[in-house]
Amino acid sequence: MFSKKKITIAYAVEKCQKCGTLRKRKFVEGDVLFTESSKCTSCDGMTSIEKIFGETIE
Ligand SMILES: [Zn+2]
Repeated sequence: MFSKKKITIAYAVEKCQKCGTLRKRKFVEGDVLFTESSKCTSCDGMTSIEKIFGETIE
């Protein structure tokens, strides 16, 4: 039997200020809520981090 090992992966959700597109990506160190993150993939707006959460994989 394998012992169950839970892994938690942190994600950040970026939201474009201009078109409202939401994009989920892996959390990287230095991510802070509501700060500007990266360029939007759909328009030329800037995205900010809307949400940071963890998902547990079993
Ligand atoms: Zn956009």
